[in-house]
Amino acid sequence: MVPQLEDLGDVRGKTVLVRADFNVPMSGPDDGRIIVDDFRIRAALPTINWLSDRGAKVICASHLGRPKGATNSKYSMAPIRRRLAELAPGVELMENLRFNAGEESNDPKFVNEIISGIDLYVNDAFGAAHRSHASIVGPPRTLPSAAGRLLKREVEVLGELRNNPKRPLVAVLGGAKISDKIGVIEALSKVVDSFVIGGGMCFTFLAAKSLPIGDSLCEQDQIAFCRKLLESKVELHLPEDIVGLDRDGNFATFGVRLPDGAKGLDIGPGSAAAFADIIMGGRSVFWNGPMGMFEDERFAAGTRTVAQAMSETKAFTVVGGGDSAAALAQFGYEKDVDHVSTGGGASLEFLELGDLPGLSALRGAPNVN
Ligand code: AMP
Repeated sequence: MVPQLEDLGDVRGKTVLVRADFNVPMSGPDDGRIIVDDFRIRAALPTINWLSDRGAKVICASHLGRPKGATNSKYSMAPIRRRLAELAPGVELMENLRFNAGEESNDPKFVNEIISGIDLYVNDAFGAAHRSHASIVGPPRTLPSAAGRLLKREVEVLGELRNNPKRPLVAVLGGAKISDKIGVIEALSKVVDSFVIGGGMCFTFLAAKSLPIGDSLCEQDQIAFCRKLLESKVELHLPEDIVGLDRDGNFATFGVRLPDGAKGLDIGPGSAAAFADIIMGGRSVFWNGPMGMFEDERFAAGTRTVAQAMSETKAFTVVGGGDSAAALAQFGYEKDVDHVSTGGGASLEFLELGDLPGLSALRGAPNVN
C-alpha cells in the first residue's frame, strides 16, 4: 500500500517537503515569462491545504521545462512562486529542481541538499512519478513519506481502469508515434475489449494492411508489430475515411486508400461518427492522443468529435494527459469527463506496468511497515 497523508502522523510544527508538478505552460519573453494555465498549481492545493490546516510548514519543489542541469532565467520558478503565494499564502517554493544536474541523475548529494531541514516528504507530482529522479525516489529512503491527494486519485482511477474496469472497456489511441506507445498497446491488449485507433499512428496500421498511405506518417519498423496486433483476437477499429492534403497541398477527403503524394492529417467524418458510436457504447473509455493534427483547425474535426463523445457518453471516462487533455480543454469539454490525468507519460506507464518508481519509493519509506 502506498502511504497516505494520514500515515504521516501528527504534522503540527513539522516541515514538509511537497514534491509537486508545477510544470505549467508558460509564454512571453525569456526574462518575463507568464503562466498560461495554472491548473497544475491549483491541483496541488488540496494536499498543501491539508498540511497547512494541520499546522505543518509546507515547502514545495518542482521542475519546470528542461533546463538540463543549469540555471536559466527562462525556467525560473519566480512566476509560479508569485501565483502560489496568492493561492496558498505562506507556502514556500524551492528553485527549479532541474537547475541542478543531480535531480535527473538521482545524485544522493542532491537528495541530501533538498531534504536538509525537512521532517516529512509528500509526493503529489503524478506527472513526474515515472521518473527515477532525486526528488521523486530520494526523500522516501530516509523521511516518513506519503502520496498527496492528486497522486492518490490518479492511482485509484488508473488502477481501477487497469485492474477492474466496467466493460466494455474501450481504448481510444491517437497521436503521432506508435513506438512511444507500444508497451501500452501490448499491455492494454490484455485488458481492453476494443481499440479505436486514429491520429498519425493509424497510418502504420493501414500500411500493415497493405493499404496505400501516400506521404502520411509511417513508422516502417513498427509495421510488423501492427500486423501482429491486427492478426490477433483483439478488436481494433481503424478509420475508413481520411482528411488531409492532396499532392498539390489542397484540403481533401479520401477513402481508406490514399493517392500518391497525399498526406492524411485527420480521421474523416464517417470515421469520427463511427468512433463516437463506439465511445458512446463503452462503459469505460480511456483516451490518449489526438485523432489528427488538431492544432490546425482544418484537421481538428476528428479530435473534436471524439472529445465531444467523451463528454456525452455515460461511460467512465479517463483522458490520459498531454495533447488529448489540451484538446479537451481547447474544445471546452474538460469538466465533462470523469478524470483528466495530470501526466501523459506517467498515465501510460502506469497502465502498462501497474506501478511507477515514485510509488514504489513511497512504499519503501520508513513510516511504512
Ligand atoms: P503524441 O505526442 O504522440 O501524442 O502526438 C501528438 C501530436 O500528433 C499532435 O501534435 C498532433 O498534431 C500530431 N498528429 C496527430 N495526427 C497526425 C497526423 N495524421 N499527421 C501528423 N501529425 C499528427
